[in-house]
Amino acid sequence: MGARTGKQYIEGLRDGRVIWLEGERIDDVTTHPKFKGAVNSVARLFDLQHEYPDIMLYDSPDTGEKVGVTHMIPQSKEDIKRIKAAIKVWAEASAGLMGRSPDYLNTTFACFAAHADVWARRGNEQGAKNLVEYQKYIRDNDLILTHSIINPQVDRSVSEAEQGGGEVALHKVGETDDCIIVRGARMLATLAPFSDELAVYPGSDIRVQDQKYAICFSIPMNTPGLSFICRDSYSKERNYFDYPLSSRFDEMDAVVIFDDVKIPKSRVFMDGDTIGYSEVIGQGYWRNYIIFQAMTRALTKLEFAFGLGHKIADMTGVNSFDHVQEKLGEIWNMMELTRSAVVAAEEGAFEVEGKGVYAPDDRPLMALRGTMPKWIPRAVELLKLIGGGGFMLTPSLADIEGEMASAISKYYQARNADATNRIRLFRLGWDFIGSELAGRCDLYERFYLSDAFRMTALNYKVADKTHPAALVQQFLDEPVAVDATSDHTAGVK
Ligand SMILES: Cc1cc2nc3c(=O)[nH]c(=O)nc-3n(C[C@H](O)[C@H](O)[C@H](O)COP(=O)(O)OP(=O)(O)OC[C@H]3O[C@@H](n4cnc5c(N)ncnc54)[C@H](O)[C@@H]3O)c2cc1C
Repeated sequence: MGARTGKQYIEGLRDGRVIWLEGERIDDVTTHPKFKGAVNSVARLFDLQHEYPDIMLYDSPDTGEKVGVTHMIPQSKEDIKRIKAAIKVWAEASAGLMGRSPDYLNTTFACFAAHADVWARRGNEQGAKNLVEYQKYIRDNDLILTHSIINPQVDRSVSEAEQGGGEVALHKVGETDDCIIVRGARMLATLAPFSDELAVYPGSDIRVQDQKYAICFSIPMNTPGLSFICRDSYSKERNYFDYPLSSRFDEMDAVVIFDDVKIPKSRVFMDGDTIGYSEVIGQGYWRNYIIFQAMTRALTKLEFAFGLGHKIADMTGVNSFDHVQEKLGEIWNMMELTRSAVVAAEEGAFEVEGKGVYAPDDRPLMALRGTMPKWIPRAVELLKLIGGGGFMLTPSLADIEGEMASAISKYYQARNADATNRIRLFRLGWDFIGSELAGRCDLYERFYLSDAFRMTALNYKVADKTHPAALVQQFLDEPVAVDATSDHTAGVK
């Protein structure tokens, strides 16, 4: 099939999947008023592939058809730059608000397939083969995935097997000749109503004895026994003027329930290997690829925040004050440091152990991963301090066009804009910093790749300490030669 259009994507969502929202079983997510804004935004991403084919598409190595660049297994630094350019096009379409644009899992599965040898360990050759075939399948059919990698938050102080008597966390309960049977729940699947398939793979380590919880697979959203319970919708059924972001970009988060779901063995990538469950993430270079995608998106969000702050400050004249300039400068600092780290990651890309496959340098990315959950909330806080009460001078389009039109026109004007344009900008700002969607996005940035505390602690654990320690050691005992020319291009292992 090759790269799909938005229309083809929308047709694929009408498949009988079980989605629950606010007590209602949703028959058709593509037409439901609380979903269709997001459906159209994802569809737009598919259309962008055809509007920018030179950036977004490449020739499938198997079918020769044009397929999405973010599925590519990079074989050079240039490939990594191509992938970034495509990620950026998609990120800009939502100003970085849709964290789960298709590239998130496209890059993940390209990574898994590229490093399938790590999955094949301890006799899992068939699982690894399934994974490689599956990656080709989603690439050549342009399928969009959600994933659910964390078990429900019952009691974080005990293991998966001890959550709710062992029945809550997703686990294997049976097997036939051609499938395994799974039961339980997974905590969240963002984009679930708008995805073609659900992927399950490790999000955290597991105890060696908990084999039945160590399962990885991928299945269509309409697989029997699979259901999704959504949180409240934050998608506003109002015009773009009133909620320019909420009306389009609520990518939705849902709990996944597995009620004795049959997973065809051809779709099982791991079954019972508790050691492999940790290794595929820790040793399979996933961090290098996924954080590259995530930080390219985060860069876009910071660029948007800087642009928004500048426009607001310029509209009300507060950018003439030095402390407001300093606040805008702080957002710019975060934006530029992010851009630099992403460039450093691509420039430092390296071939992995003679495999012919390239990975971005994960060190600048890991540093950002620990910091970004603080930076984006900080950027939002700075925007609040820059805009002040202006975010409350935000009557609706109905007010602007109603009986108070002439008063609004006079009293809502700004230094360099009429009332309508001032209100439009501040409503956009409020949708970014204060609406329900904004609150959800704040939580997303803090937790979607675990929390900042554990992310930063992990950086310390995996960091190459050789050179910094040698710098210290030279003054502690016999002189030690410090290799000042070390280029550290091998990445954090
Ligand atoms: C908007 C949003 C969308 C998401 N989308 C997805 C998705 O699509 N797919 C998916 O799989 N997941 C998704 N997640 C879930 C995400 O993976 C988890 O939120 C993340 O792994 C953290 O787990 P938790 O939320 O259960 O928090 P917890 O792990 O319960 O953490 C809560 C607090 O306890 C602390 N804590 C917990 N355990 C420990 C520990 N062992 N040591 C020290 N401190 C600890 C944490 O630091 C934190 O402060 C999403 C989350 C959000 C908020």
